[in-house]
Amino acid sequence: MEMKQLWLVAPGETELRTVPVARPAKGELLVKVEAALTCGTDLKAWRRGHSLIPMPGPFGHEFSGTVVDAGSGVRKFRPGDAVMAVHTAPCGKCAYCKKGLYNLCREIMDTKVLGAFGQYVLLPRHIVKTNTFLKPETLSFEEAAFLEPLSCVVHGVERFEAVKGAAALVFGAGPIGLLHLLILKARGLRVAVCALEASRLALAGKLGADCVFRPGEAKKAMREFAPLGADYVLECTGRKEVWQAAPGYARRGGRIMLFGGLEKGALVSWPSHLIHYDELTLMASFHFCPADVRKARSLLVEGKIDVKPLISGQYMLSGARKAFERLARGRGIKYIIRAGD
Ligand SMILES: [Zn+2]
Ligand SMILES: [Zn+2]
Repeated sequence: MEMKQLWLVAPGETELRTVPVARPAKGELLVKVEAALTCGTDLKAWRRGHSLIPMPGPFGHEFSGTVVDAGSGVRKFRPGDAVMAVHTAPCGKCAYCKKGLYNLCREIMDTKVLGAFGQYVLLPRHIVKTNTFLKPETLSFEEAAFLEPLSCVVHGVERFEAVKGAAALVFGAGPIGLLHLLILKARGLRVAVCALEASRLALAGKLGADCVFRPGEAKKAMREFAPLGADYVLECTGRKEVWQAAPGYARRGGRIMLFGGLEKGALVSWPSHLIHYDELTLMASFHFCPADVRKARSLLVEGKIDVKPLISGQYMLSGARKAFERLARGRGIKYIIRAGD
């Protein structure tokens, strides 16, 4: 059996390839992709290459689907089951896994599955065992495909212990900034969002932001929103100048979550005086642990947050390039990529 799969061959260059469909071995699942989503990481790779996304190689990592074949020994799932999953799982054996730092597992990035922009994905045993779940009928395939980005955001939010009533400033109103907004509002925080594009700010307002503004208005708006400065500042743009500016918006004792990864080799510097005498905590967040995936799944399944407004449209595999061109111009938040039959 063969299938269509989108490959990223070079920055800005994709190729629709016909590749063999693998048979699931022991513990593995073959899943027909029902919905896949574009992601900020994909956009970075499409624009400039990405150290964690090999090129040329299969593209896309956010998906949900239907089981078509199960390897021997798989008991939790059978053909016909609708499933939601993420594309990684920790090994459970390395020194980091033993410390419970599963997101930092030595193997987690080497054993990930790419190729969600395709007709089928083969889920290896470790992912089937830890990070694959049945999808309830009440949740659409499109919503279920948010499991991966939402897990990343849950991981970060768990790290800085978002306290009810606190004031948070989110830089960026792309998918990650908006998912932060949704989670922080669901937890009862006051949230301000700063972004460049008017359409994204308008969406942030609709999704419940208490205050939205463009970078030029940030200082003034923050004096009203949180006169002392924000309790939490969340960098969700992946831009160096925002990393640099973020600590300047925190109150004394505040926390700065650096979420949007920069290009390898990028250097950032901060005034030591500010960091020390204001006792700021600089934090970073990378990927997620299985516990974060389970929490993200509950948020989706229990309807605690509504991700549907983040879907900006859909394209077939052959038109996926258009989705990335739009995203590169700041148009839309996330696009569904459909493989078809
Ligand atoms: Zn993603
Ligand atoms: Zn490990």
